[in-house]
Amino acid sequence: MDLNLSPDALKFRDELRAWLDVNLERSYTEEVLAPNADEDSLVEVRRQFQKKLNDAGYLGMGWPTEWGGRGATQVEEAILRAELAAVDAPQSPNALGIGLCAPALIHHGTEEQRNRFLPKMLSCDEIWCQGFSEPGAGSDLAGIRTKAEPDGDDYRITGQKVWTTLGPWSNWIFVLARTDMDDRHGGITFFLMPIDQPGVEMRALKQISGESEFGEVFFDNALAKREHIVGKIGEGWRIAMTVLGFERGGSTLLPSAEFGHQLDCLVDAVRTNGDLERPDVREKLGNLIVENEVLRANGMRTLANVAQDLPPGPESSIDKIFWSEFHQRMTDTAVELMGPQGLLALRSPGARTDVHWMREFLWARAGTIYSGSSEIQRNIIAKRVLQMPTK
Ligand SMILES: Cc1cc2nc3c(=O)[nH]c(=O)nc-3n(C[C@H](O)[C@H](O)[C@H](O)COP(=O)(O)OP(=O)(O)OC[C@H]3O[C@@H](n4cnc5c(N)ncnc54)[C@H](O)[C@@H]3O)c2cc1C
Repeated sequence: MDLNLSPDALKFRDELRAWLDVNLERSYTEEVLAPNADEDSLVEVRRQFQKKLNDAGYLGMGWPTEWGGRGATQVEEAILRAELAAVDAPQSPNALGIGLCAPALIHHGTEEQRNRFLPKMLSCDEIWCQGFSEPGAGSDLAGIRTKAEPDGDDYRITGQKVWTTLGPWSNWIFVLARTDMDDRHGGITFFLMPIDQPGVEMRALKQISGESEFGEVFFDNALAKREHIVGKIGEGWRIAMTVLGFERGGSTLLPSAEFGHQLDCLVDAVRTNGDLERPDVREKLGNLIVENEVLRANGMRTLANVAQDLPPGPESSIDKIFWSEFHQRMTDTAVELMGPQGLLALRSPGARTDVHWMREFLWARAGTIYSGSSEIQRNIIAKRVLQMPTK
């Protein structure tokens, strides 16, 4: 298996790096990383950078050209994500629209839906959020109870969704709702709904980090138009699985690039405060660097599969557990080594750029939950990789 990037992939990476050198102004990252930055302005910074990426043809690259993409390979998409992470570029506020809803529309939507929604996703003129999880249905997604009742040609939605990332800034939401309360998988339908309408209430949820990136959404007889149903009535589960496949399979090189950058910053900060000479500190940092190399090599292995058009497979669950638990170990160590400075999220003197260690430490707790919790990943490994018997 060739774990190196092909000459074409390297050429793409170098062009992208050159573009980022010119176009990623320092002010973007400083604003995003500022300890007490206002969340509305952060989303605006993220939106502006996304527009720049879109104008340069770096968004939705893997989409077919007729929908604004350039038919890029998955390897190029993985490189793009890793390079953006490695320089702390502002993350897209429309990651859920572009990364999850768009593939559902491209694979299962109508021509009208693609024309109506895809361009505004790329330009970030409409921000999207994902309405799958409910208070009683997370890991067991097929247990959703939000119901959709016919109203003439259209449907009325009643129920609640939760953990809706970027909900407070979104204009549209893609929702799984029950068109049949008894058929567990075949009774679920995939709806696209505007948030600004009677019967939809989006409430921001305050997180442990002090931010409110999530929302909970209450639907009370809200209108879902028939023309905004993706696929057929009752096909929602199948479509949701396409969407989740993109969510779980799309990471590959991203975590190791992001963590590599953070580790560089940590080493700089520890060197500046004089602790790098301590053998115990060197050992801790050395272990983290080696683990991140393992993560990078695993990412390259997945990418090598993807380059040959092989699916990421259930082995990607091993990657998911490894990177999410590694992120927790890394941020635990960082907060410990940075001492009060890490807790207060002050600037790390001498560091290449600031890492908001306290925020990273808190955020790392979520990694073992979203995109399938560690327990669910272990179930997948037991069943599909190790072929262990199940009840
Ligand atoms: C940062 C973040 C962003 C998110 N963004 C979104 C979003 O935008 N849209 C959205 O719809 N949802 C979102 N979610 C929700 C996410 O999908 C759920 O949190 C996740 O699926 C787990 O569901 P739950 O929280 O209901 O926990 P539960 O499913 O209730 O699980 C509770 C505990 O039980 C364990 N458990 C559950 N079932 C099993 C089993 N069969 N075997 C062993 N252990 C089990 C779990 O591992 C966990 O430890 C987000 C979550 C997070 C943390």
